Amino acid sequence: MGKQNINTIGVMTSGGDAPGMNAALRAVVRASIYNGLNCKGIRLGYQGLIEDNIFSMGPRSVSNIINRGGTILKTARSKEFTTKEGRKKAYENLKKNGIDALVVIGGDGSFTGAKIFSEEHDVKVIGIPGTIDNDIFGTDFTIGYDTALNTVINAIDKIRDTAQSHNRVFFVEVMGRDAGFIALNSGIACGAQDILIPERKDKIEEMFDSMERGRKTGKLSSIIVVAEGEELGGVYDLAKFTKIKYPDYDIRVTVLGHIQRGGDPSCADRVLASRLGIAAVEGLLQGKTRVMAGVRSNKIVFTPIEEAIQKHNEIDQELIKVSDILAR
Ligand code: ATP
Repeated sequence: MGKQNINTIGVMTSGGDAPGMNAALRAVVRASIYNGLNCKGIRLGYQGLIEDNIFSMGPRSVSNIINRGGTILKTARSKEFTTKEGRKKAYENLKKNGIDALVVIGGDGSFTGAKIFSEEHDVKVIGIPGTIDNDIFGTDFTIGYDTALNTVINAIDKIRDTAQSHNRVFFVEVMGRDAGFIALNSGIACGAQDILIPERKDKIEEMFDSMERGRKTGKLSSIIVVAEGEELGGVYDLAKFTKIKYPDYDIRVTVLGHIQRGGDPSCADRVLASRLGIAAVEGLLQGKTRVMAGVRSNKIVFTPIEEAIQKHNEIDQELIKVSDILAR
């Protein structure tokens, strides 16, 4: 047995995929080997654990993946794992494969599963935040967020060309579930006329005011970025209400959808994933369990998984001010 009674680490990706998950997996595998441990990959998240879809991973099993989006381990949402019986099966397979500790790369749902699993059974768990939404407490950035932002601004830049050519108003819906991080940051980066996010209780009149302000100073086209979790009714309703108020506006709606989840990870995401993969293995070797590895002010930090699930990162008020000042 190695340090902290850990000989073999199991690693999985779970929940929604995010660019950089592969880079994190590569780091977990190689850091395990560096520390003299075995590493086993679990395919299809918790469902793969229940179905014993588990295999040994050596250093070459993660060759040529640092640059690839998605996850070579594949990911799944497992209903069975939310039951006690499902988790018992999962635990039996862990034991059968000699896995002493589990690294879960995923979002808050996956961390909830990890927490419950490790409280019920004798298994150490550590989380790595992999989601484009950046909605996890305990880290300044989640893996995949930077790539998604870059995908969004590339797409909106293209939409801007059309908006300008035709004097149109575009409502662009971006991902983020209940969080407005993608919307706020991409909106600033794309020079949006307005940015609607769930954290700020937006009023439609304020959006109209902003549009009118732009019109008065000669603005003929506008981009309004809308977070998917925004509470005014979504892009289609916003477009409808705007058309009623301004019948002469030429209005279009674009929902960026799943293009935001894929693609080659950015440099920032590859570096973040590499650091967090190593941190997760080192954390386990230091005896940590039921924590998530993250970065805060560019330093590695570990946050109790319970806090990571329950708390939320606040939207930076300075960024809201930046977007308001620049939307003239
Ligand atoms: P993303 O935020 O990208 O969607 P996520 O990790 O939040 O990722 P979920 O689908 O919420 O994605 O969770 C992934 C899996 O974690 C679920 O399919 C389920 O197997 C497990 N899980 C989630 N919640 C629980 C729970 N309360 N108890 C046990 N397992 C859970």
